[in-house]
Amino acid sequence: MIEDLRLLIELQGIDSVIVRNMEIIDVIPKKISSVEQPLKEAEAAYEKLRIDLETLAKKKKAKDGLLDDVNEKVRKLKARTTEIKTNKEYQALLKEIEAGEKERNAVEDEILMLMESVESCSRVVNEQKGRVRVEEEKREAFKKKLEAEVAEARKELEELRLRREGVVKGLDKDVYSLYFKLLETRRGLAVAEARDEVCQGCNMNMPPQLFVELKKNDRIFQCPQCSRILYWKG
Ligand SMILES: [Zn+2]
Repeated sequence: MIEDLRLLIELQGIDSVIVRNMEIIDVIPKKISSVEQPLKEAEAAYEKLRIDLETLAKKKKAKDGLLDDVNEKVRKLKARTTEIKTNKEYQALLKEIEAGEKERNAVEDEILMLMESVESCSRVVNEQKGRVRVEEEKREAFKKKLEAEVAEARKELEELRLRREGVVKGLDKDVYSLYFKLLETRRGLAVAEARDEVCQGCNMNMPPQLFVELKKNDRIFQCPQCSRILYWKG
């Protein structure tokens, strides 16, 4: 096999790995955003629940204040019983006290219900907080794994580029520019194997005479269909 062809095959091998490594690096932000979505959703759900809890706690506080007022009102009414002169006034006062106590019972019931709501809501808030933490941990672990992959790919890329330089130096300039043009226009594959009269780059048959000639591997042949540089492995 002529040296240029041998170098072209080696160069194609290197460039294929370079492309693969660059793809690994390119898809990283997309991969990271794919795990960020569940975290964002968990955080949004947590924030909504936290506001619900805050609202309930505020309602309860307001009812506590109301209960104090009602208690004070009942206490004052009861204190007035000693000042009462007539039975009629006494009956009226008793009714007021009764109404005040009814109100107090109602407020106490409401407070009890609110306390239960606050309790169950804070349980849900804590559960959701746990989910947020799980998603955060997942994202961190995934990020670390990706960062390791990128570091590995970058390191390999550096080595590959050095090797590539060495190979390119040995190649004929015109052959290299043909190769590079094909690499750009043929989706990263410029050099293809010819197997059983079929170009492995485009899967098209080639004239039998061409196959016979290129099997010698002593010249640069291009596929009549896709123009890729052909070689024979045998
Ligand atoms: Zn072809």
